[in-house]
Amino acid sequence: MERTFIIIKPEGVRRGLIGEVLSRFERKGLRIARLTTGHIPEKVAREHYAHLKDKPFFDELVEYMTSGMVCMAIIEGPNAIQHVRSLIGATNPVEAAPGTIRGDFATELPYNIVHASDSPETAIAEIARFFGTEEDA
Ligand code: UDP
Ligand code: MG
Repeated sequence: MERTFIIIKPEGVRRGLIGEVLSRFERKGLRIARLTTGHIPEKVAREHYAHLKDKPFFDELVEYMTSGMVCMAIIEGPNAIQHVRSLIGATNPVEAAPGTIRGDFATELPYNIVHASDSPETAIAEIARFFGTEEDA
């Protein structure tokens, strides 16, 4: 059993895609272990994307991620990290295959609907950052 962390980004929530995105994880056979909505404070967005801080798109990315309500979840199941990354598709919507979330619902960066942890280490860090470290999740 493995856990990963996802964010349905502000335009995903604005476009009414929370149910659509979560249902794809559920249909795969993964479980929604925790679920919440809220706004990401700028400081937390900068920390979450700190590895990209030298990229030219960093400020735009932080502004986008803090521009509206998001939906955050812990998704659980066998190989959850890799399965969720496969279901969301490539980072750039131009390269994301039809049938993936980004391939079906997004057209251009940075607006690609959903974030998902990319490794066991980032999953642990991101779950702690956004949900805390309590064991009863
Ligand atoms: N992003 C962007 N321009 C780029 C690369 C990334 O605007 O050239 C944004 C995009 O929203 C992406 C986020 O930055 O989801 C984080 O980038 P990362 O490389 O971690 O991609 P991801 O893990 O989200 O697929
Ligand atoms: Mg990433």
